[in-house]
Amino acid sequence: MSNNISPVLHLSTREMHLKRKAMWDASMKNHGAYMDPETHLFSEAHLERRACPACGSGDHSFLFHKSGGSYVICKQCKMVYLNPVFKDDVLENYYRNNHTLQGETVAADIEFYAKLYRQGLSSIEQHIGSAGRILDVGCSTGNFLDIAKSADWQCHGLELNQTEAKLAKAKGHNIQENLLSRADFAEKFDAITLWDVFEHIKDGHAFLKEARKSLRPSGVIFVQSPSRDALAARILQAQCNMFDGLEHVNLYGMESLTQLCNRAGYTIVSYETVISEIGVINNHLEYEDPYLGFSKNAKSLFGMIDEAWIHERKIGYKFQACLQAR
Ligand SMILES: [Zn+2]
Repeated sequence: MSNNISPVLHLSTREMHLKRKAMWDASMKNHGAYMDPETHLFSEAHLERRACPACGSGDHSFLFHKSGGSYVICKQCKMVYLNPVFKDDVLENYYRNNHTLQGETVAADIEFYAKLYRQGLSSIEQHIGSAGRILDVGCSTGNFLDIAKSADWQCHGLELNQTEAKLAKAKGHNIQENLLSRADFAEKFDAITLWDVFEHIKDGHAFLKEARKSLRPSGVIFVQSPSRDALAARILQAQCNMFDGLEHVNLYGMESLTQLCNRAGYTIVSYETVISEIGVINNHLEYEDPYLGFSKNAKSLFGMIDEAWIHERKIGYKFQACLQAR
């Protein structure tokens, strides 16, 4: 297991989320084009139904609507996922054409993200031994690759969005504007990373099977993704911003990730959580907007639950997991 270095929150919860609001607003604006103006849900023409992407069960219950989408929970593995969900071609077209501001948001708050990147990289290095070849899937403008490169990794990236890929290439990274299944690499990788990307991939099982072909035998797949187990998600439910209705198609937790890995032939070799969201939860508990409220307390809930308590129980906002093929 990796050492649990908690990122220090330098900005107040409100300041941080005000910075991120531009990204959220841009994303919500993009949803409008796909919505039925009468129901405020996504139009049927863009959608398809599916079974649980983690365990394959068709047995689920409706949870809530969010920004045009519908989230359900799997009765078998408790996975939370969008159902119906955008068809593959609609989703790919959406990503190619809608620049998400993800790269700019990270760049504006690089200190916060850099700590998460270093924590993940240290976890990968514990399994690999030393720096080698790394592929960042959905690398955006290359902010993680910048850090991996400075730690002597040979860096490659995949990014569908043309604007973001161009910015990453301008920094000197090797970027292909393609999906992993269509990319072409001369050699296999010691690590394949997915930073806030795995929740966007509809078929995680197919992805893991495909990724194995590009991974060296002792290689690691690293995933950082919002966790449906998070205390913030379970308290805020539909109000929690991990549920965006369109892009976050799959919200795994420890149980559903384990099921998925068992089916795809992987072992979870480390699993930590990061980001407590105590400030967000306190805003909510004070009847304020969870993200833009004025609660000053980002340290503890009722003086009883602190960041360490949350991460010991693996109920932080995102998980960082390393997977190895069996
Ligand atoms: Zn399931």
